[in-house]
Amino acid sequence: MTMTTRTTKLPCGEAVPVFGLGTWKMGEAQSRFADEVAALRLGLDLGATLIDTAEMYADAELVVAEAVKGRRDGLFLVSKVLPSNAARAGAIAACERSLKRLGTDRIDLYLLHWRGGVPLAETVAAFEALKAAGKIRHWGVSNFDLDDMDELEGVPSGSACQANQVLYNLARRGIEFDLMPWSRKRALSIMAYSPVDQGALARSGKLDAIATRHDATAAQVALAWTISQAGVIAIPKAVRPRHVRDNIAALDIKLTPQDLAELDKAFPPPQRKRPLEMI
Ligand code: NAP
Repeated sequence: MTMTTRTTKLPCGEAVPVFGLGTWKMGEAQSRFADEVAALRLGLDLGATLIDTAEMYADAELVVAEAVKGRRDGLFLVSKVLPSNAARAGAIAACERSLKRLGTDRIDLYLLHWRGGVPLAETVAAFEALKAAGKIRHWGVSNFDLDDMDELEGVPSGSACQANQVLYNLARRGIEFDLMPWSRKRALSIMAYSPVDQGALARSGKLDAIATRHDATAAQVALAWTISQAGVIAIPKAVRPRHVRDNIAALDIKLTPQDLAELDKAFPPPQRKRPLEMI
C-alpha cells in the first residue's frame, strides 16, 4: 500500500488521507492557471484525493474546479471561510460562493480560517445548518490554539469539530507540547500546513544527510516526518511537476529510529508552551 492511500480517522470515524494538495498562491495569475491545474491533476493522477483551498486564496477555488472536473467523486475537498464572513448569514453565503466557484454541490470539510470577532457559537450554528442542508459534510477550524479549542468545545455542537489546520513542520513543533496531545485525546485531526516550511526545509541543509541515506530530497524527509506523526494530515503545495512527484513519492519513505533521533536533535521538540505560530 502506498502512503497516498494511507488514511487517518476523523473523530466521526470517516477515513481521510494523510496527504493532500495545498493551493495557497494558486489562482493569482491567469498566466500560471494552466500549470496550476496541471499540477493538481498530476497529484490526483498519482493517487492524491484530498485538496485544500480557501475563499481567501485568490482564484485558487477556480483552479481546483478545473482540476477536479469530471472526477469529483472520491475526492475530499477542503475549503475555508474568512473570519470576516463567519457570522451566520455571512458563512452560509460564503459557502454558497465557494460551492459555485468549486463547481461542486458539497464541500467535504469546511474550516473557519482563523478566529475573528464573531462568537464561535454563531459560526458553529452556521456550520451545523450547512451540514444539515448537505452543503458541507464536516466542519473544522484553523489556526486555533488550545484556549480557542477549549472554548470551542464548550459551545453547542462545538465537539462536532473534525479538524484543526495549523502550521506544523520540523522547524515549527510548538503544538507538540499541548495542542497535539489534547487533539489526540479527542481523535481530532491536525492538518499540517506549510509542511516544508514554505520551501525553507528543502534548503536548510539540516536534512541532507538523512535524505542521502534514503536516496531522497530534504523536502521529502520533511514530509515523511510530518505524516509519521499520528493523526496528522500534511498538505504541501507544489506547482512544479517535479515537486508534485517528489512529494507523493515521499509518502513511501520510512524513517528509522536513528533518523527520528537525529531529527529531534536538529529540530528539538518544545519543552514548554509556545503560542501557536501562524503564517
Ligand atoms: P509548503 O507546502 O510548506 O511549501 C510550498 C513551497 O514549497 C512552494 O514554493 C513549493 O514550490 C515548494 N515545494 C513544494 N514541494 C517541494 C519539494 N518537494 N521540494 C522543494 N520545494 C518544494 O507551504 P504552504 O503553501 O504555505 O502550505 C501548504 C498549504 O497549506 C497551502 O498551499 C494551503 O493550502 C495551506 N495553508 C493553510 C494556512 C492556514 O492558515 N490554514 C496557511 C498556510 C498554508 P512550487 O510551488 O514551485 O512547486
